[in-house]
Amino acid sequence: MEASMVERKVLLNPGPATTTDTVKQAQVVPDICPREHEFGAVMQSVADDLVRIVHGEHAGYEPILFCGSGTVCIDAALSSFLPQDGRVLVVDNGAYSHRAVEVCEYYGLPHHELKLPIDRPIDVDEVQRCIDGVGGISMVYTTHHETGTGVLNPIREIGQCAHDNGAIFVVDTTSSLAMIPLDVAADNIDACMASAQKGIQGMTGLSFLIAKTSLMEESASYPKRSYYCNAYRQYMHFKKTGQMHFTPPVQAIYAARQALDEYFEEGEAAKWARHQDLARHVHEGLRRLGLEEVIAPEFQSQLVVAVRYPDWPSWDFDKVHDYCYERGFTIYPGKIEEEGTFRICTLGAIAPDDIDSFFAVLEHALHEG
Ligand SMILES: *Cc1c(COP(=O)(O)O)cnc(C)c1O
Repeated sequence: MEASMVERKVLLNPGPATTTDTVKQAQVVPDICPREHEFGAVMQSVADDLVRIVHGEHAGYEPILFCGSGTVCIDAALSSFLPQDGRVLVVDNGAYSHRAVEVCEYYGLPHHELKLPIDRPIDVDEVQRCIDGVGGISMVYTTHHETGTGVLNPIREIGQCAHDNGAIFVVDTTSSLAMIPLDVAADNIDACMASAQKGIQGMTGLSFLIAKTSLMEESASYPKRSYYCNAYRQYMHFKKTGQMHFTPPVQAIYAARQALDEYFEEGEAAKWARHQDLARHVHEGLRRLGLEEVIAPEFQSQLVVAVRYPDWPSWDFDKVHDYCYERGFTIYPGKIEEEGTFRICTLGAIAPDDIDSFFAVLEHALHEG
């Protein structure tokens, strides 16, 4: 492989993530009509491997690919997996679950929002109490890793609670899948989702649901609330023809093929160990600079760290951002309404050395101010 043709950037924002040169280069291919069998075979292998990441291949799970950013899957799951008389319980302890509430509002879906504190994981007893109080819940929905705060939710227990009450469990795993090991059957997941630009370290434009075969079949008779985002239509079309219903993101799929090869080469456990190692370097760097984390250590995902704005008179987030950006490091504003925060996210193809280099630059940025 030739030396990098593209300048390397370390993305510490919550996705898209830094990609390898080999993934970038995988997009440069001869023009091809995506209806050709050759391309269909690539797409099928990508779909199959996405299910393997969450260990669903022998447990009766199906991949459903969409062209779009991750939110297309929130839209598809909520609009597709609710029966005529169903009701969704959105367990909301952050901005991404709140997005699901907005999707319910836009589609006019019967729903109940259980709003919980954003600075700690969901308390399953609250979920049970809410199911008892509201009644008629057919889907429990939440987010595994709230990317806005870095809080990790106990999805296995929430899924168990949903099932004990006769509801399906749909979870947004966009910012955990392919980073934190998941096992869809053991984690009581009926459907989960992600996009190629996060955990698998691919490109934007390809997003996917992974859903139980039985749920896909049942959803055939559910109301079709969206033309473009209906999961059953997309699933059946792919099953029958080996093609997405409408034009797929061709280059993103070639990149995903390469990214998945690199994912399995690194391995689930080693990759998760790398992410945890990156987080250790972040915690250490923040401590050294005297910057405070918002979320208690035991509640954190180890993928996103929310940092409180210091009360130093010279502090100016935009200036710090620009200083770091000019030197190849991208940090990102926070998503917590009540207080000033920014985020350091360690999703992509980065190494502990990158984090140490970043903190050296950040230290300079703070002194420049
Ligand atoms: C990134 C992300 C999404 C998708 O956001 P897009 O801007 O549509 O890519 C959804 N849920 C979570 C938890 C995320 O981190």
